[in-house]
Amino acid sequence: MPNTVHIIGAGISGLSAAVRLASAGCQVHVHEATQQAGGRCRSYFDTATDLTIDNGNHLLLSGNHHALAYARSIGTEAGLVGPKRAQFPFVDLATGLRWQLDLGDSRLPLWVFDGTRRVPDTGLLDYLALMPLIWAGPEKLVGKTIACKGVLYQRLVQPLLLAALNVDPPEGSAGLAGAIVRETLLAGGLACRPLIAREGLSAVLIEPAIELLKKKGARIWFGHELREFTMSADRVGELKFGDDTIAIGPDDAVVLAVPPRPAAALLPGLKTPAKFRAIVNAHFRCDPPPSAPPILGVVGGLVEWLFAFPQRLSVTISNGDRLIDMPREELAQAIWRDVCQAAGVQGELPPWQIVRERRATFEATPEQNALRPGPVTAFKNLFLAGDWTATGLPATIEGSVRSGDRAADLVDMS
Ligand SMILES: Cc1cc2nc3c(=O)[nH]c(=O)nc-3n(C[C@H](O)[C@H](O)[C@H](O)COP(=O)(O)OP(=O)(O)OC[C@H]3O[C@@H](n4cnc5c(N)ncnc54)[C@H](O)[C@@H]3O)c2cc1C
Repeated sequence: MPNTVHIIGAGISGLSAAVRLASAGCQVHVHEATQQAGGRCRSYFDTATDLTIDNGNHLLLSGNHHALAYARSIGTEAGLVGPKRAQFPFVDLATGLRWQLDLGDSRLPLWVFDGTRRVPDTGLLDYLALMPLIWAGPEKLVGKTIACKGVLYQRLVQPLLLAALNVDPPEGSAGLAGAIVRETLLAGGLACRPLIAREGLSAVLIEPAIELLKKKGARIWFGHELREFTMSADRVGELKFGDDTIAIGPDDAVVLAVPPRPAAALLPGLKTPAKFRAIVNAHFRCDPPPSAPPILGVVGGLVEWLFAFPQRLSVTISNGDRLIDMPREELAQAIWRDVCQAAGVQGELPPWQIVRERRATFEATPEQNALRPGPVTAFKNLFLAGDWTATGLPATIEGSVRSGDRAADLVDMS
């Protein structure tokens, strides 16, 4: 095990690596470029709504085992809350139809055999037709693997894969889609219970990790952007942060847990995904109706998922590049109209905020997926982590934690 490990980047992947290594007894230093940990998974106080909000609504599932183990390791698993059963209410804004998908609480996908629990107007054969996704290779397109049309596609497969891949499903990697289907729908309701950090992403997944790391003697550096590596032979020799330089001893190691663009700039020649997609979130300050479910799937409109938080209704729209240049007020009005219909609320636009994360995730297409590197680099003491590394999953918290855990284990063995 190395003496000291420097983790570059305090997103979920960097923090999960840091927590694992600090818990194993390593001296850990975390270097974060910004003044706040969390990266793409963070909370902040928003003056427009006068609320602490997350940069984006993040949904975890009970089958996200690495993410839950990470939350357990920092003592906040109970902060991830959701219904007791894997039930997903949906509304179709075009027709007004409402239904509830009830995946139950089994380890097997028994719900597909029960007409009252599956998607209305679908039969068992529709679900069997999804099987080719399960063994599809990552180089195949979803659109060439299953028929991207029909009731089951519109009411379940499209919303699920759009949320998971953040691309229009037909253009997505069938291998990545297959991993999602295997770990969710096929794993039964026990793996599909929706979980949300109701008190906020930072309060549940980020700040407790920082506190734990400090308690274990780790040093956390904010505003400490790595600008350059100095290499000596096949090892990292120095970390250059602009004003200061840190020498890496022969028994030290480095985990680079930054997004693909800075990673490629720091390591010339590193192949990384280079195309990204946006996610748009809208937050409205209002009390959700008492009947509002914590998460509502919405089809047939602009809104895709509607989340009910205390004092706030919040919306996620994936693959949101088409909305990046739309005037903010116009976008807020359009989304609010959908929210009123979906949640059964009325009234003028309340205080709102729109957060458009331009590079929310790498593009989960076969082409971009093929550019994801593994954790090992040409340098013996340097390992990669991040949702964009080759995790076998799309860009998700679960993938980030897996990558952080994997990098930590490799450091531990080095
Ligand atoms: C709006 C939105 C909604 C999402 N919804 C979901 C969801 O519902 N469910 C889900 O599972 N996932 C979701 N995701 C994906 C999830 O947020 C990411 O997969 C995860 O947060 C990525 O973590 P990471 O550590 O890999 O990268 P990042 O979070 O990008 O962390 C990298 C860190 O490195 C820092 N950094 C960059 N360069 C340097 C440098 N040179 N030196 C030091 N530090 C540096 C950055 O500031 C950042 O803090 C969503 C993402 C977004 C944006």
